[in-house]
Amino acid sequence: MIEVLRHDIVIVGGGGAGLRAAIAAVEADPAVSVGLVSKVYPMRSHTVSAEGGAAAVAREDDNFEMHGYDTVKGSDFLGDQDVIQYFVQEAPKELARLEHWGCPWSRNEDGTVATRAFGGMSTKRTWYAADKVGFHMLHALFQHSMQFDQIVRYDEQFVTKLLVDDGVVRGVASLDIREGVVRVILGRAVILATGGAGKIFPFTTNGTIKTGDGMSLAYRAGVPLKDMEFVQYHPTGLPGTGILITEATRGEGGHLKNSKGERFLVDYDYGVGNKAELGPRDMISRAIVQEVEAGRGIQGTYGEYVHLDLTHLGADKINQRLPMVRELAKIYIGVDPVTDPIPVRPVVHYMMGGVDTNIEAETALPGLYAAGECASASLNGANRLGSNSLTECLVFGASAGRNAVAFAKGSSEGNQAALTGQGEEEAARVDALRGRQKGGEKLSHIRQALNATMETGCGVYREQASMDDTVRTVAALKGRYADIGLQDSSKVFNTELIAAMELGAMLDVAEAVAVSAAGRNESRGAHTRKDSTARDDVNYLHHTLCHFDPAGPRLGKKDVTLGKWEPVERKY
Ligand SMILES: Cc1cc2nc3c(=O)[nH]c(=O)nc-3n(C[C@H](O)[C@H](O)[C@H](O)COP(=O)(O)OP(=O)(O)OC[C@H]3O[C@@H](n4cnc5c(N)ncnc54)[C@H](O)[C@@H]3O)c2cc1C
Repeated sequence: MIEVLRHDIVIVGGGGAGLRAAIAAVEADPAVSVGLVSKVYPMRSHTVSAEGGAAAVAREDDNFEMHGYDTVKGSDFLGDQDVIQYFVQEAPKELARLEHWGCPWSRNEDGTVATRAFGGMSTKRTWYAADKVGFHMLHALFQHSMQFDQIVRYDEQFVTKLLVDDGVVRGVASLDIREGVVRVILGRAVILATGGAGKIFPFTTNGTIKTGDGMSLAYRAGVPLKDMEFVQYHPTGLPGTGILITEATRGEGGHLKNSKGERFLVDYDYGVGNKAELGPRDMISRAIVQEVEAGRGIQGTYGEYVHLDLTHLGADKINQRLPMVRELAKIYIGVDPVTDPIPVRPVVHYMMGGVDTNIEAETALPGLYAAGECASASLNGANRLGSNSLTECLVFGASAGRNAVAFAKGSSEGNQAALTGQGEEEAARVDALRGRQKGGEKLSHIRQALNATMETGCGVYREQASMDDTVRTVAALKGRYADIGLQDSSKVFNTELIAAMELGAMLDVAEAVAVSAAGRNESRGAHTRKDSTARDDVNYLHHTLCHFDPAGPRLGKKDVTLGKWEPVERKY
């Protein structure tokens, strides 16, 4: 018999969104019990690696109207304006709350919270703790969560399936990575907080664990994925590893330079006016690609790159504001930014799309909520502004926690025998996959082919023919995946088994990205087509929904919630 564990709320993910949801749930009702499942120890979640900061109105020269409009414009008018207004109002409360829980925000001389400039933000509104913001935020959340006995952690446990009975989600099946057994963890509401999926691309700032598992779990349970075509390239990753050099480098005054040593963004017509290095990410990434295509890139082992020059900032400022950047550049590329420019190239950073949720963090499947990068609440639309994401994890993590508690109160436990039966079937599936030698396909070959086709078909610039080709290639890779062979049949820390299940999720997510992209015949935000360069509000001012279907993904649409900000040409 499979072991069955019970909680009121099950949360999948121990990053910023998952921990915030757990705390919100027990604060909403101290009597609830929360099961917090994470495939890694929570402090290893990707949130820990965030460097630059979290956005919220803090200064006297700033207000909700400005943060709201910057976000709407950054989204290329595809963000939902009700969601954005809610977000900007909650943001300062969440960041102040985090300080009370121990997050050491950097300070101005007069003791007020220090804020730095970030791309596409019209004033300095990015709160920071030097350049280790994610570490400090996650640490504060993790430590705070430990005071609640009601939050029971299941670390190093991998959720493989959502258990749905009578049209309501009522728990998960989860593989204990340490012991190799699958258990059923029941809850009267489930929150997905599983983060992004950058690993479907070859060059990414994302950690190895970012494989889109939660997106695939929801998708296969019938919840559509929304706006998956919008993939954010960060303009400044290290060539080769993809390690991020934070946007805070530009916020603090760094310059991008081409092979001629020219600060090319200054008088470059890429639509950002006089913002130069403080333009939004999609536009700067495109400008770098154009510089390289015009022959002004610098040749390196991993393709051409440009320079990020911080030398004029001086050692004191770099040591005080950007110590981690100095450390990363020295260790991973052998460059000391105090004396030399850092080689950088655009790298995949963030998924604007994700599990379709509304302003309440609810999905279309009753009882299922989602928050953080795995969700698409339509805050970010076609392009996210840097530093909105960490705050998003807090704002929508908190509302997911509260709303899941309210739902759980009115929900029954469902048919226990049916749920246990689903868990047993899932355990049998996982057991059959482990050490399954009969297949002829290697995981690494499929993963490499997937990465390559995603870069050619769904990169910074796209075209119909190459996107269609990627759609076909991913479908073929799914076919090959059905015939994988695995060598390791051991139960304890079977990383090959985990990699196989992660690759399954990556294929689902990649297919949704490619199919959604191929269906949007316009250029908007991060989705930029060479063969259809204009934004087309008449035909495409809508969200894309991608539904799972055993025969292949099915596309649908969802209205954008407009409001006081009318769509206009996006110029800076
Ligand atoms: C290098 C880097 C720097 C960044 N810097 C910034 C910044 O300065 N400002 C900003 O706003 N944003 C930044 N971002 C984006 C931001 O950090 C992320 O979007 C955000 O932290 C995501 O948080 P999350 O809680 O949604 O997911 P994550 O922190 O990725 O956590 C996901 C959790 O889900 C769990 N999980 C996943 N799959 C499973 C499964 N199958 N079973 C069980 N558990 C599972 C994982 O164990 C993990 O605990 C940065 C991103 C990167 C990669």
